[in-house]
Amino acid sequence: MMTKCPECGSSDIVPDLIVYADAAASGQNPPYVKLMEPEPKKLPFIWSPKEVKAGFRAAICGACGHTQFYTRQHAEILEAHKKGYTSQTYGLNIIPNL
Ligand SMILES: [Zn+2]
Repeated sequence: MMTKCPECGSSDIVPDLIVYADAAASGQNPPYVKLMEPEPKKLPFIWSPKEVKAGFRAAICGACGHTQFYTRQHAEILEAHKKGYTSQTYGLNIIPNL
């Protein structure tokens, strides 16, 4: 996590800020990443994928405004990644080349 600004060298860092992206209809709706469990080869009769979500915090340099995003759920994300969980692509085809 940023303790010294890589842009200006200041240590006046304001950390741990929740990042919001307000949606008109649903109020406060922070952005997040989501990793989904891969579908097993032998699909059980009832199966729904496990998922791991991580939201973002921001650390802002009080001297120049440089901002760094990070998550507190890095261990869970790494664990899920090692288990083969991936980002779901459904719905992202509206953004080409994502
Ligand atoms: Zn700075």
